[in-house]
Amino acid sequence: MQSNVFILYTGGTFGMKETTNGLEPSSWEEIINYLPAIKNQSYFDFFNEITFSYDVLEPVLDSSSMNPDSWKKIAKKIKVNYDNYDGFIIIHGTDTLAYTASALSFMLENLNKPVVMTGSQLPIFHPRTDGITNLSNAIYIAGYLSFGINCIPEVCICFNDDVLRGNRSVKTSTNDFEGFSSPNFENLAYLEQNITLNNNLIRHKNNGELILIPHFSENVVNVTVFPGYTPSALIDLIKNKKIDGIVLKTFGSGNLPETPQWHELIRACEDNGTIIFATTQCPNGKIEIGQYASSKILKHECVISGKDITSEAALTKLMWVIGNYPHQERRDILSQSIRGEMT
Ligand code: ASP
Repeated sequence: MQSNVFILYTGGTFGMKETTNGLEPSSWEEIINYLPAIKNQSYFDFFNEITFSYDVLEPVLDSSSMNPDSWKKIAKKIKVNYDNYDGFIIIHGTDTLAYTASALSFMLENLNKPVVMTGSQLPIFHPRTDGITNLSNAIYIAGYLSFGINCIPEVCICFNDDVLRGNRSVKTSTNDFEGFSSPNFENLAYLEQNITLNNNLIRHKNNGELILIPHFSENVVNVTVFPGYTPSALIDLIKNKKIDGIVLKTFGSGNLPETPQWHELIRACEDNGTIIFATTQCPNGKIEIGQYASSKILKHECVISGKDITSEAALTKLMWVIGNYPHQERRDILSQSIRGEMT
């Protein structure tokens, strides 16, 4: 079967060149010369029919400059082109790829097609680039119809030989070609000599129409607790209504220092309608409020357990929930897994 794939280039190392300023993204025109088979629409003619269209998110960025506006622009490109393509590939820098993937997963309700995010550790211009492998693998997942494989109707990250659920992924290496992992969730697929899909983990399609829920609150902070930390500055921010939500990265399974300031912080949150989304700073495992005496302080209405959510998914979900839903609905949405982001 023929498939039609939409490729969006947003920047990142994949298309970067050394300049006097350091590595900077170059234009798609330069990059596509290194991808002649895509340029000539003959990539997999040998095996299967597949056609590509491409677009560029201007200005192309190092992904460290991506922000909620960029996430919205990417989501809009997908929404506008949704009916004309079988799958979407987003070429993106690796630094904030897990944030964008998480944000897109929340924004795109009823997603029934693959949105495959990829990038690389070495630019496409480098003789040892991993960009070709990553893009080729992404093409298989987005162009699944041409390759007789099952659809992965999710925002996923395709990197090295892994296909990971986007909102379960974290960047775990600045150097290794295996740059991403999904610490609390198995791969959706393995792209080794054989392609193996974890069909029982892949989300099911539904009959709904794609809906874009695009807003993000920026009145959110991400706070990592450390030994000796007292949250007085945070309490001031809450009392002065400067923030609506906190991703609190606790010790272990939800533990905090047993000091009066933490009780004051909880009281301030209760009084001001500020949400604490509790996560763990451990890469693996989950929050279990009440397991230790030192986590009992979190047993309050204003605290929601993020269970085994990643930091990236927790932050983007909290921004998104506060940005789109009224107070009375927030707790419910945050405590449920709405896009497979928590177990
Ligand atoms: N700084 C780059 C970026 O995130 C890193 C990369 O793409 O690997 O855009």
